[in-house]
Amino acid sequence: MNNPRNIKYIVVHCTATPTNTTLESIKRFWKENRGWGDTPGYHYFIQRDGTVVQLLDEKKNSYGVYKHNSECISIAYLGGIDKEGKALDNRSDAQKHAMFDKIVELTERYPKAEVLGHRDFAGVKKACPCFDVKTWLKNYEPDLK
Ligand SMILES: [Zn+2]
Repeated sequence: MNNPRNIKYIVVHCTATPTNTTLESIKRFWKENRGWGDTPGYHYFIQRDGTVVQLLDEKKNSYGVYKHNSECISIAYLGGIDKEGKALDNRSDAQKHAMFDKIVELTERYPKAEVLGHRDFAGVKKACPCFDVKTWLKNYEPDLK
């Protein structure tokens, strides 16, 4: 697929919501609280059961990384906080598996893009996505059953 955008980064996020939050309520939050209209925060959204939902065409900019939106494809897993609202990598096994597969697929299509976590960008003060993406990718062992 030809993408007219210059994709430099494949960026991993968490939604920073409880794990039972619905995609519909997240979309409503973007629209009504952030004023983003129908533009989502991510291109891909990973449900607890590992279902990957595409929210936006890769040719379009999502809101994802301040000042870098034109260069990013963003993927988020549902979750990322504990009951007190503190940052926590609480990905399900299905989410990890789906995330790994999606990243592999994207890096094949965008071989020049670097895979980063949101927090790896300069000036980002959030913990998003609550784990070290590069270390995880290096050490993840997909279950090949
Ligand atoms: Zn983020």
